[in-house]
Amino acid sequence: MERTTRQMELHGVGVGRGIAVGPILRMPDALPEPDDATHAGDAAAEYATTQAALSAVAAELAARGEKAGGPAKDVLDAASMMAQDPTLADDVKARIEAGKTGERAVFEAFAAFQDILIGMGGYMAERATDLGDVAQRIIAHLRGVAAPGVPESDTPFILVATDLAPADTALLDLDKVLGLITRDGGPTSHTAILARSKSIPAIVGVTGALDLTDGTVVIVDAAAGVVTSGPTDAAIADANAHIAARAAASTIPIVDGALADGTKVPLLANVGSPKDGPGAVELGAEGVGLFRTEFLFLDSKTAPTVEDQQEKYTELLSYFSGKKVVVRALDAGADKPLKFLNSAHEENPALGLRGLRALRASEQILLDQLTALKGAQDATDAELWVMAPMVADAEETQYFVKLGKALGLKTVGVMAEVPSLAVMADQVLAAADFVSIGTNDLTQYTMAADRMLGSVASYQDPWHPAVLRLVKLLGDAGAAAGKGVGICGEAAADPQLAVVLVGLGATTLSMTPAALADVRAELATVTMEQAQAKAAAALAATGAAGARAAAAAA
Ligand code: PEP
Ligand code: MG
Repeated sequence: MERTTRQMELHGVGVGRGIAVGPILRMPDALPEPDDATHAGDAAAEYATTQAALSAVAAELAARGEKAGGPAKDVLDAASMMAQDPTLADDVKARIEAGKTGERAVFEAFAAFQDILIGMGGYMAERATDLGDVAQRIIAHLRGVAAPGVPESDTPFILVATDLAPADTALLDLDKVLGLITRDGGPTSHTAILARSKSIPAIVGVTGALDLTDGTVVIVDAAAGVVTSGPTDAAIADANAHIAARAAASTIPIVDGALADGTKVPLLANVGSPKDGPGAVELGAEGVGLFRTEFLFLDSKTAPTVEDQQEKYTELLSYFSGKKVVVRALDAGADKPLKFLNSAHEENPALGLRGLRALRASEQILLDQLTALKGAQDATDAELWVMAPMVADAEETQYFVKLGKALGLKTVGVMAEVPSLAVMADQVLAAADFVSIGTNDLTQYTMAADRMLGSVASYQDPWHPAVLRLVKLLGDAGAAAGKGVGICGEAAADPQLAVVLVGLGATTLSMTPAALADVRAELATVTMEQAQAKAAAALAATGAAGARAAAAAA
């Protein structure tokens, strides 16, 4: 570990409330496509260098597999085999002999093979991504630069990156990654959401993050949004004491979510994979309030089959016998593009063909997903609720509800993420069985602040009274219609804001399971009357900071 002598602070937006201490490791950025250039003329020498890179990467992947063991070994062994595949090597050689550089020959040969795999569909198509990863490693080797992706390390570290793709974050090794610092991203970017779900203390939107050098020891204090580089021994001791105290607090007994006066507020889990089910149950989730199904298919080049989906949905539902599970239809677009749903280039993808709009444009994919969900509904005794993302108004609500019911789904609703939907709350609640408020997008669109952009992160604050007033419109409409209005955005994971949201009419709160304990404890300290008083105080404030302060004082 390198210890700099000067203590220095960098600021950003904290995610979660944890603290981490450790040396940093930078994540190399993705490699640009190699130029379509020709080599110096000695094809034999160019091939020898390239062949050496292929062998080195094959050996490196096999060695990593050996060390990892278990299912990871199979994956890494398969990747190692790809790097030494004779057909691919022949193709690379032929391209070099035709004049291409080694880098370009590898890029083209692997891309051609990827296309063949994609054409085969199913399992083979899924391997295409692995092949792309192997090609990137070989090209990095030829260039003498670090391979892209989450770096390898034998010892725990704090990862520093420009930003992370959802797939990178999902693969983070929790035993190794102590904390996360990104230059880009706001508090509700998917990097932030995934970090929170994995209980990784993270700070996003940190200007100067990329100037930190590998090995520098830092303290990541998510609650304060401060990265301290080169901390003093006293600061490190203080941070370690904090880490131990948080670990001790997480052992408080689990009960169902309720206010001090006994009003029930079911606490549900946000999940991104059926595999998250058991962990959520263990942390006391009373059901699932948001299953982000698109997370299952981020790497898929082709649309998933009904059978494949039904199997996955049934697995998740099977963990929640007799309980509610809210599944969201694929929310593709913007920061979560799915290759099989979003192909056109858009200048402003957050304002483009995403969510329900993209599904309507490829209706068969939507029909297949709803059919798979109906199959899962029939196969288990969980209470399945299905909702659509990015719905703009009552007409779109009617479209989705009608389709879902025609396919046999029992409970069909919509997410409130677009301000226009909240403005039309009465009509929407007349058409839908329920509404779930996605405060991340609702804040992004209400405040016109891209949730991926660090520079406007201060606008991305769900405490803003403009956002809270829209929540109230929905809460009031839900109460009038006698229908549930849940919250499934990150706002539900902020204990003080959770109280205000209940005061505004939210009937359930769904969050990353890691946040359940803090929210459960806070709800138990207030009555409904007090929650409503806090909500009224926040609604009357002129900005987000004022709303926070007013709610605390009320
Ligand atoms: C939201 O927008 O608040 C939400 C829950 O959906 P996502 O974060 O997946 O966009
Ligand atoms: Mg959303």
